[in-house]
Amino acid sequence: DHHSDPLPDTAQGILAEDRAHLFYSWSAQRQLSPMPVARALGSYFWDYDGNRYLDFASQFVHVNIGHQHPKVVAAIQRQAERLCTVSPAFGNDQRARAARLIAERAPGDLDRVLFTNGGTDAVEHAVRMARLVTGRPKVLAAYRSYHGGSHLTLHMTGDPRRWPIDTGAAGVVHFFGPYLYRSAFHARTEPEEAQRALAHLEQVIALEGPGTVAAVILEPVVGTNGVLVPPEGYLAGVRELCDRHGILLIADEVMAGFGRTGRWFAVQNWDVVPDLITFAKGVNSGYVPLGGVLMGPRVFDAFADRPYPGGLTYSGHPLACAAAVAAITAMSEEGIVENAAHLGAEVLGPGLRELSERHPVIGEVRGLGVFWALELVRDRDTREMLPPLGAPGGPPGPMDELAAACRKRGLWPFVHTNRIHVVPPCTVTEREIREGLDILDEALSVIGSHYR
Ligand code: PLP
Repeated sequence: DHHSDPLPDTAQGILAEDRAHLFYSWSAQRQLSPMPVARALGSYFWDYDGNRYLDFASQFVHVNIGHQHPKVVAAIQRQAERLCTVSPAFGNDQRARAARLIAERAPGDLDRVLFTNGGTDAVEHAVRMARLVTGRPKVLAAYRSYHGGSHLTLHMTGDPRRWPIDTGAAGVVHFFGPYLYRSAFHARTEPEEAQRALAHLEQVIALEGPGTVAAVILEPVVGTNGVLVPPEGYLAGVRELCDRHGILLIADEVMAGFGRTGRWFAVQNWDVVPDLITFAKGVNSGYVPLGGVLMGPRVFDAFADRPYPGGLTYSGHPLACAAAVAAITAMSEEGIVENAAHLGAEVLGPGLRELSERHPVIGEVRGLGVFWALELVRDRDTREMLPPLGAPGGPPGPMDELAAACRKRGLWPFVHTNRIHVVPPCTVTEREIREGLDILDEALSVIGSHYR
């Protein structure tokens, strides 16, 4: 009976089974060479040949608490023995406690949580809520954004991943956010960029019709599309614009939330309170899938006496919520958010800036907390991009060489377009950061011939 076959225990064995039966997300199926991971601990994971990798990507920028945190693993085990699943129509102690722990850390008057299975459905709900609360159809989303992989959220996403399905989603309008290094507004300074980006958004709202706009959604720090930190005054300005026109502000903190920027929520770096916050990833570091929407009274009260239309069978899953309770508690007790803020400001940021002094291929270093990017250019004066990561199966370019050089030396970076995102777990240590910086230094030398 083939069901009693032992599990494959080599990379080749796993990939052979993969190739026979599996379909990988976001991938050309014949051109894949995924690395099977055998185990992980803290900031490291291991392949099946015993090679160790320093996880400077935190997987998909989600393992904020590091791999296999013993308190989170134990909480999942305890919950699994007691009660694996109940429908969202029943109460659950872990879900109730998780909501309280999140509300206690949230900015302003945000104090209610709708739990989801991940970030994508959190964004779907936030937009639906904004539309129902305002009675308006449109949502304004930024070019250079990622908001999820479902129909609506992929359309809201302002990057090329939406192109293949681009048949349009009603009511989604894109605008330019601030990005001084490649300013859409020809700005030369941060204040100029902030002011022009706000004037642009104001015009988009005016021309779309303020009375038709339900929400502006933005990533307070744009994640996958470049780790774009907003200039001073920008987020406050968007808040003010939204208030003026009765538009809800949605902060998509799926990547930026739960410690990544050195605060529980990224908006807390700028003292701005949105109407809705979407979160996932770091809430329980993905040990069990979980996301959610944080809301204040304006949204909550709208559904006090009429039913909210939406939710999934697994919403607020007990195992996921138990993992969130344990993860948030451990992050507080162990000072993990403070660790991200401190090491980011004192070690990681300065270390990356030092690298840029030695490697002219680094056009810009930007970030905060444990949320950084190196943007690589062929020429610092013209800012011409280093050719982006090659298409799967195509000829390798310098970004592929750089990624390979890192991996060969035991570092797993997050490589995207012409950027390296440096996004280790919030639990990363100073020694691990220095280990990663040394490897990056060597790997950047390897591609030295590709730029001036
Ligand atoms: N929003 C942002 C800002 C994200 O970074 C992501 C994922 O990377 C998502 C939404 C989608 O989250 P998920 O992949 O959990 O559905």
